[in-house]
Amino acid sequence: MATSTQAVRAAIGLGGNLGDAPATLLRALAALRETTGIRVLSCSQLYRSAAVGPAGQPDYANAAALLETTLSPHALLDALQAIEEKEGRERTIRWGARTLDLDLLLYGDHEIHDQRLIVPHAEMLRRNFVLQPLSDIAPDWQVAGDSIRNLGKRLSGAGLALWPDPRWPFPPNVLT
Ligand code: AMP
Repeated sequence: MATSTQAVRAAIGLGGNLGDAPATLLRALAALRETTGIRVLSCSQLYRSAAVGPAGQPDYANAAALLETTLSPHALLDALQAIEEKEGRERTIRWGARTLDLDLLLYGDHEIHDQRLIVPHAEMLRRNFVLQPLSDIAPDWQVAGDSIRNLGKRLSGAGLALWPDPRWPFPPNVLT
């Protein structure tokens, strides 16, 4: 994998709505911790969000995590996709149910627009289920000229709630 010596702060979004989604997200975090070149700095609370897309889908479990990484953005995406594949994510139905979705939200202050990667993530500023968890752990990170905290406050909280799960060990702002 492409690595550099310079560690970069990155943010990722985690989501899933098939099976035991909180357990899937916990396994994904464990897999990230085991990946060379990635250090998981903190993770948000666990949220539940109503699914976007085809009707009748189960709610999503959502969270966000802050990483420090020596991987390039594309190598980090490779790592995220390898973890998704391990969790058996179905890629056939756009917007369809998925075991695990890992999105690269932010990579330092880099702006990337190529065939594989758009960073900051193209949809993140419109999604309360991304900005609310991210606001737990990176409220002051500036994106598009404003803080994650303020950007999140502008969105409706509709469809989003905390998901109390005794297995979820992350309160906000606590290093793991
Ligand atoms: P999705 O099914 O919505 O998770 O989209 C997966 C596709 O989005 C992959 O083919 C990625 O190459 C592409 N992609 C573009 N930007 C990003 C990003 N910031 N994070 C994750 N996937 C991305």
